[in-house]
Amino acid sequence: MPRRFSGDRLVIASHNQGKIREIGELLSPFSVTCISAGALGLPEPEETGSTFVANAELKARAAAQAQLPALADDSGLVVPALGGAPGVVSARWAGPDKDFRFAMHRVETELAAVGCGDPEDSRAYFACALTLAWPDGHVETVEGFVHGHLIFPPRGERGFGYDPIFLADGRQITFGEMDPDEKHRISHRADAFRKLVAACFAP
Ligand code: IMP
Repeated sequence: MPRRFSGDRLVIASHNQGKIREIGELLSPFSVTCISAGALGLPEPEETGSTFVANAELKARAAAQAQLPALADDSGLVVPALGGAPGVVSARWAGPDKDFRFAMHRVETELAAVGCGDPEDSRAYFACALTLAWPDGHVETVEGFVHGHLIFPPRGERGFGYDPIFLADGRQITFGEMDPDEKHRISHRADAFRKLVAACFAP
């Protein structure tokens, strides 16, 4: 049985204000006050794990040292034809300027280099690991996914990261063209949150 969250305060192990606000909204039905790791002056640990789960766990464990339960996430794009790349280094492929046009072009170039031209070769998924860690070291981790394939050239100006090249299964428009509410209903993050809420928060 997963451990239930029974407190009223939760540290969000992120320094990204957008992410902190989104998590706060998702947890608002459960009367939880979300505090950012930044507000507590907690340093950001280096993401040294080789999986999303390992990185979410190391970030959540580090933040739970502030004596409150902590929630962390880690996410990225996985392309099986590229051996799982960019995976845990999805953000790094955009370089120091966080240029995702560059990162998407790299995905396209590397797919061409391994001879993957058509959609069935360019299967891909977004993954999100979410970890809830307690100060005693206990963790609960869930993973969410959204499956689809990649298309080039990129389409749409909405969303962020690799959204303009990702076409979720059964959809005709990319995440970059999709209404944000619609993306948030079907995304890897939404899938992971539904699982975490069911395991640790819902009555
Ligand atoms: P992090 O989990 O905030 O470290 O994000 C890792 C990276 O994965 C982001 O910088 C994006 O490049 C990519 N990524 C994660 N989620 C999404 C998404 O929903 N759309 C597009 N790119 C994403």
